[in-house]
Amino acid sequence: MSLTAGVVAVQGDVSEHAAAIERAATDHGREVTVREIRESGLVPECDLLAMPGGESTTISRLIHSDGIASEIRDHVAAGKPLLATCAGLIVASSDAGDDRVDELGVIDVRVERNAFGRQKDSFEAPLAIAGLDDPYPAVFIRAPAIDAVGEADVLATWDGRPVAVRDGPVVGTSFHPELTPDSRIHGLAFFENEAAAVPALEDVQ
Ligand code: GLN
Repeated sequence: MSLTAGVVAVQGDVSEHAAAIERAATDHGREVTVREIRESGLVPECDLLAMPGGESTTISRLIHSDGIASEIRDHVAAGKPLLATCAGLIVASSDAGDDRVDELGVIDVRVERNAFGRQKDSFEAPLAIAGLDDPYPAVFIRAPAIDAVGEADVLATWDGRPVAVRDGPVVGTSFHPELTPDSRIHGLAFFENEAAAVPALEDVQ
């Protein structure tokens, strides 16, 4: 009956993402069991995945060192949804502009780390997001900007720069949608993305 969700748990807001996934599932009439991904072997059992923020150089190093990275690529190649937030977006991108990040290349964008300037290192902004009726309260923390977009759709911009994108089954945000009680971004990424395959209710054992 229950979907299996994974939260990449090498760093970042793991429990907040888990709670947001559970709320979004409830809002969409689904049940979900959330697992924390700290080692390889678990991602293949997941129907949907979240990759939190943190420090992109560290996340990149840790997921490549034990095989989680290639499992995430396989997950996306199978059309299953991934939500990658902040540093997670940097790691998921095709170009992080930093040699210390070994990009997964599952979102066709180039990003600029820490792009929103020192005086605005952290801020909250009401974002208009394609697919959501009302503005989303987006929390930015030393956030990356997206400075070139390939085969991806821009879902939101701030200050003239894209800050939310969708590339097939993958949604990436510069901001932290797990840090507010509003779980509409998780809903959009996991349950409202027609390009992503989540097992239907009747197909889940
Ligand atoms: N500044 C971090 C980085 O470049 C991202 C910050 C975050 O995830 N909140 O990796």
